[in-house]
Amino acid sequence: MNLILLGPPGAGKGTQARRLQDRYGIVQISTGDMLRAEVAAGTPVGLQAKAVMAAGQLVSDDILIRMLADRIARPDCAKGFILDGFPRTVPQAEALDGMLASKGLALDAVVELRVDDAALVDRIAGRFTCATCGAGYHDTFQPPKVAGVCDVCGGTTFTRRADDKRETVAARLAAYHSQTAPILPHYAAQGRLHEVDGMAEIDSVTAALVALLDGLRGRPA
Ligand code: AMP
Repeated sequence: MNLILLGPPGAGKGTQARRLQDRYGIVQISTGDMLRAEVAAGTPVGLQAKAVMAAGQLVSDDILIRMLADRIARPDCAKGFILDGFPRTVPQAEALDGMLASKGLALDAVVELRVDDAALVDRIAGRFTCATCGAGYHDTFQPPKVAGVCDVCGGTTFTRRADDKRETVAARLAAYHSQTAPILPHYAAQGRLHEVDGMAEIDSVTAALVALLDGLRGRPA
C-alpha cells in the first residue's frame, strides 16, 4: 500500500504515519526527518537546507526529488510506504508520478488531514520528540504518562525542532497554502484524494484513517 498524508504543518501527519506504519507494516518516509538528519550530520545537502528550513521555507525540488527517489528504491519499501511531507509542490507531485510509473507502482490513496490554521500554532509550539526512539509528544495534548520519561522506550532525553517556534510557524503555513495546497487538485483529478478530519482527537483520527484504508483495501481493483 502506497500512501501520501497531506496537510499543513501540525496537522498530525507524523503522528498518524507512525501509527499506520505499525498497523500495516509499511514504511513512514518523512522528508523533514531526512533533511534534519542531513543537517545534523553536516552533509552538503544539510548545509544547503539548514537556513531554508530555519526560515520556514521549502528546500529546492531538485534536492527533495533526488532524496525521495533514493529512499523509495530501498528494499524496505517493497510492501509500501507512507509519504509524510512529500510532495510539497506541484513539480514534486509530478516527479513522484513519473518515479512510481517507472517502477510499475501507483498510489493507493492520498489523504488530506484537514485542520484549522488557528489550531496549528498551539499544536506545533508545544510539541517535542523522544531523542532515543522518535515518539512524539505535546506539552498539553499528549504529555508522557510520567513527566520526563518516554512512554515507549523509557528514554529521558527529548528534543524540540528548531523550526517549531511561533515566529517560524507562520512562514511554514504560508508555504503550505501557496506551494503545497495546489497539489490537492492534482490528486483530486486522479480520483485518489480523500479527506479526514484532523481536528479530532488523535485516536479518532487514527480510527478514521484505518476505516478509510481498510475500506480501500477491501475494494475490488
Ligand atoms: P516537516 O518536518 O515535514 O515539517 O519539514 C520541515 C522542513 O523541511 C520544511 O519546513 C521544509 O523546509 C523542509 N522540507 C521537508 N520536506 C520538504 C519537501 N518535500 N520539499 C521542500 N522542503 C521540504
